[in-house]
Amino acid sequence: MTPRELPIYELEGALVASLRAQGRLIVQAPTGSGKSTQLPQMLLAHGFLEKGEVVVLQPRRLAARMLAKRVAEEIRCDLGTEVGYQIRLESRVSAKTRIRFVTEGILLRQMSFDPALKGIAALVFDEFHERHLYGDISLARALQIQRTTRPDLKIIVMSATLDAVVLRDYLAPCDVLTSQGRSFPVAVEYLPKAVSFDKENVWDVAARECARVAARTSGDFLVFMPGAYEINRTLQALQFERDLRDFVIFPLHGELPPDQQDRAVSRCEQRKIIVSTNVAETSLTIDGVTVVVDCGLARMARFDPHRGINTLLIEKISIASADQRAGRAGRTAPGVCVRLWTEREHSQRALQELPEVKRLDLSEVVLTLKASGIDDIAAFPWLEKPDPKALDRAEMLLADLGALAGTKKTITDIGRRMLRFPVHPRYARMLLEADARGCVRSVALMAALTQGRTFLLRGVSREVEDARDDILGEETESDFFLLMRAWRYAEQNSYSVDACRRLGIHAQGARQVGPLFKQFLEIAGKEGLDLSEKSVDGAQVSKCVLAGFSDQLAKRLDGGTLRCELVHNRRGMLARESAMQKATLLVAAEISEIEGRGGEVNVLLSQATAIEEPWLKELFPEDYRDAVGVVYDTSTRRVIARRERRFRDLLLDAKLTADEPPASDAASLLAHEVLAGNITLTEWNENVDQWIVRVNRLAEWFPELEVSPITEADKATLIEQICYGSYGARELKDKPVMPVLRDWLRPEQLAVLDDYLPERLVMGNGRKARLTYNKEGPPVMSARIQELYGVDGRFTIGHGRVAVKFEVLAPNHRPIQVTDDLTSFWRDMYPKVKVELSRRYPRHEWR
Ligand code: ADP
Ligand code: MG
Repeated sequence: MTPRELPIYELEGALVASLRAQGRLIVQAPTGSGKSTQLPQMLLAHGFLEKGEVVVLQPRRLAARMLAKRVAEEIRCDLGTEVGYQIRLESRVSAKTRIRFVTEGILLRQMSFDPALKGIAALVFDEFHERHLYGDISLARALQIQRTTRPDLKIIVMSATLDAVVLRDYLAPCDVLTSQGRSFPVAVEYLPKAVSFDKENVWDVAARECARVAARTSGDFLVFMPGAYEINRTLQALQFERDLRDFVIFPLHGELPPDQQDRAVSRCEQRKIIVSTNVAETSLTIDGVTVVVDCGLARMARFDPHRGINTLLIEKISIASADQRAGRAGRTAPGVCVRLWTEREHSQRALQELPEVKRLDLSEVVLTLKASGIDDIAAFPWLEKPDPKALDRAEMLLADLGALAGTKKTITDIGRRMLRFPVHPRYARMLLEADARGCVRSVALMAALTQGRTFLLRGVSREVEDARDDILGEETESDFFLLMRAWRYAEQNSYSVDACRRLGIHAQGARQVGPLFKQFLEIAGKEGLDLSEKSVDGAQVSKCVLAGFSDQLAKRLDGGTLRCELVHNRRGMLARESAMQKATLLVAAEISEIEGRGGEVNVLLSQATAIEEPWLKELFPEDYRDAVGVVYDTSTRRVIARRERRFRDLLLDAKLTADEPPASDAASLLAHEVLAGNITLTEWNENVDQWIVRVNRLAEWFPELEVSPITEADKATLIEQICYGSYGARELKDKPVMPVLRDWLRPEQLAVLDDYLPERLVMGNGRKARLTYNKEGPPVMSARIQELYGVDGRFTIGHGRVAVKFEVLAPNHRPIQVTDDLTSFWRDMYPKVKVELSRRYPRHEWR
């Protein structure tokens, strides 16, 4: 089939017309239709690229490179001339380039340096259904730019499967062009019995299934595996299957040299088996495949709260992904898809993957947006808003790294420099620090060591521990240094399983560090950092760790236990296996929350590095304070002045001083204790509360007196006034209260209070009764029947403006009735009451 015959050309006319009419377009067509390779060529052919290039954003590096190569071949130019690509560590572009494939943050970063997008005529967002973080955010930025500085910019969103409704609303006005493509039916087969990949290797199961279906099928095989390691093991397992002797076998993943990647997709005479990562799910089409064997797993990027960074974890793919993978078998003929899980298990899988914006740490993209001058990140026009907590966490981390500053959290110079490194901001910050301290190599290695799961096993036998002590030696500066030595040991022993087992090293885990280390070094070298490190200076390297993890600084609470206090008001326990048992200050590169037996959450700190206090001041002069502080000492129950050293909100040390604390500070601290209920003011009794209610009702009922009511906040002020002059709980607790309260009112207002809303009242019979004022409702006068003889009618106070309710009490003070009008009580209620009560209380007077 020539490219011109690909289904996408059905849409060519509509596509060109639509793009001429408006700037935005959605193209939806199944994998293999020709979207990625043909659409950029259509733009070129129809003159859309006369004033600038088209940039095609791809989620995967491997796909970006291979697509560029394919398109270059189709239009017969050298790669890097008219057609080029730009991925994290590689770039093949020139001034001539019209079609440029890029990945990850490259486009977003360009938007922040050059918001006019000079030289770019069109942007294509490919594989958008995968909802990668950079796709989402770059699209939002592109819309902003199109609406403001670049109305002529063309934006095209492409996808194999798409929830086009939400997206169309987001992009409106915008056409949606759909092609059904061509495909053949695929028969899906499940395993009859569930297999646990902990018990039986996934590659062995895959090889067995390939062999099982080889004889009854024709055409090529595509096997999905999560990563390079599993792919290599599958290759080995396939070679042992006699029924597969006639097949040639190819791996396909991002870590392979380009020529090997190309070989996997190129034509070949024999039947072939391609063992691939999910790059072959929708990004790349391999012609001739009729059998798909799907292990159902993929390496997915996810925020790992333990390490505070994004990592790749192997997870089960969703039903939508599995369907895409199955579809690869039906491109050219009817096909078969074997799923390495059961049908029952299938029904329990997620329908779709969560978009990355919902599951990744956002600090890197937040920093990029800040660099574009977008300070209010929450108001950014997200296609899907991230969790506000995730945004706060990102901003807080960036502020701690020194990348943002001020109340509006704007980007700093350090922040801008950090942005040049396509790594997590923690490591960008560490690499910058390392450059200044001549230890870039060590820090690059450390960064590599933290990317994967730790390969130094925990909970090992005594024997292994002894061997570790012998070979790795003692360590007091950083757990990282042990890890580095362990890695060197594994590397020198060529990751031999035997040598590694002796020290409890996971050989495969250690092996994965090498390429990462190389990558970090390349990034550092590319940004012009100094890579010449003669000898390792432990203190300098530790300072770099501090720069990257200052938000996880911990102080030991005492020497006896492993309990620690951390910045940002957190607590935790240093892990037992950490070598930093003697350190009083440390940073933990890993924090894990472990649920205890009683359901409580224990915070475990590991991968620790010992820190010396002067470093805090040296690295973060603005966050380190040494000043006199005033505190309430709970043991002596007194306010004391002390010299405090703090890092952010973490108290490092405090020493008593001889000075008396300022009276106002003492008063406010004591007031705080009173309000918290830790100190009781004995004179603050019911009368005081009644008095406050009376003042508040006076203010309410007689606004013309201009009395201000006493609010809860005023109460706190009053308590502070009572506390003024005291320094300890003992002298404070019996202090008089009423004098301070009475000062609240002017003398004439005080007089009016007693006149309008008296505490007691003389009734018609000459007896006194007590009035109770409530926060709501009328005042209530309570009196026993005998005290009310001779009193009639209604009662008011406040010069006739406030009606009083009577609460008539029995001789035992139990209320009998509440009434506004005593006359009706005497007439209707009293005769019955009298009969009953006079029998019970014969010795009382009954008129
Ligand atoms: P889509 O983006 O719609 O999935 P592509 O543009 O990637 O489609 O591919 C269209 C067709 O071009 C594929 O079906 C395949 O036949 C062919 N093709 C693409 N890339 C290559 C390549 N590197 N080698 C051989 N054929 C390729
Ligand atoms: Mg494509």
